[in-house]
Amino acid sequence: MAELFYDDDADLSIIQGRKVAVIGYGSQGHAHALSLRDSGVDVRVGLHEGSKSKAKAEEQGLRVVTPAEAAAEASVIMILIPDPIQAKVYEESVKDNLEDGDALFFAHGFNVRFGFIKPPANVDVALVAPKGPGHLVRRQYEEGRGVPAIAAVEQDATGNAFALALSYAKAIGGTRAGVIKTTFTEETETDLFGEQAVLCGGASALVKAGFETLVEAGYQPEIAYFECLHELKLIVDLMYEGGLEKMRWSVSETAEWGDYITGPRIITDATKAEMKKVLTEIQDGTFAKNWMDEYHGGLKKYNEYKTQDEKHLLETTGKELRKLMSWVNDEEA
Ligand code: NDP
Ligand code: MG
Ligand code: MG
Repeated sequence: MAELFYDDDADLSIIQGRKVAVIGYGSQGHAHALSLRDSGVDVRVGLHEGSKSKAKAEEQGLRVVTPAEAAAEASVIMILIPDPIQAKVYEESVKDNLEDGDALFFAHGFNVRFGFIKPPANVDVALVAPKGPGHLVRRQYEEGRGVPAIAAVEQDATGNAFALALSYAKAIGGTRAGVIKTTFTEETETDLFGEQAVLCGGASALVKAGFETLVEAGYQPEIAYFECLHELKLIVDLMYEGGLEKMRWSVSETAEWGDYITGPRIITDATKAEMKKVLTEIQDGTFAKNWMDEYHGGLKKYNEYKTQDEKHLLETTGKELRKLMSWVNDEEA
């Protein structure tokens, strides 16, 4: 079983005794910086020249400096910018500002796990990743609650890296809900696998294939959209609240029977064999290398795939149908 840590296991005064730099002020960055500050931590935000989020950070009462200045001032540096640019920002602004005993923090292990960032041996390297989007992390903190988080230590130069990570997690509300101990390897590989095989890749391919099957058989796209995409939310909400059991309790017996007998015909042994190949390519670094080549090569294929799907009948149909559902677009992202 996983090791769990709560408020009582974490000492807030550790992070309160450090100067923290939060590099980036996006989804995670704003939540971490604001909650650290509200927890009595000395925090500055590091943002690049021409940053769009700079004004917002300043409006919210935070001091914004360049990433290099932030890294130089602080002894805990949390990297919260998009993963593909982290290595460049690390090389240019962070690396030379690391001192003995500093801590380099991440919310995703990608760059360290695959060697795009190679921290020196004299700093702590740790991960604190809330298991939710930044806006929820911040809202929960403000409401006196927290989003569960995971924490890991890749390199323990000081011997206190995990206590520091727990202290950081406490300052952003993580230990209120519970922090699970993991490793950079486990976090990175399961995160990539989950989003590729199930959450993003698996789910969108399943929705598209179902939609196409109905439309090719002559059914109206609008009806196919509702059955294959729109209603997925209801099902996922039930799973989220109570697992497969609650979903099956809520749907009709006919739907439940269809679930048992048809699911395994759709996700077959061949699908699972392919999932294992996907996992192997994640583990051996093939995926990471190809993705970074694609990213730094100008995102040509990425943009092709994007445009293709934007033109897909599923998407054009959905765009029109969602206009009929005022509550859908009104929902906060
Ligand atoms: P975002 O895409 O939201 O980060 C954008 C921020 O990075 C903006 O403030 C942007 O500035 C800034 N930025 C862009 N380029 C630079 C630069 N060269 N120097 C300094 N700042 C820069 O990131 P996320 O919050 O989504 O992700 C951050 C990390 O957290 C990643 O490692 C991610 O994997 C991880 N994570 C994300 C989660 C999420 O919910 N999104 C959940 C858990 C982990 P501007 O726009 O002003 O130019
Ligand atoms: Mg991910
Ligand atoms: Mg139905």
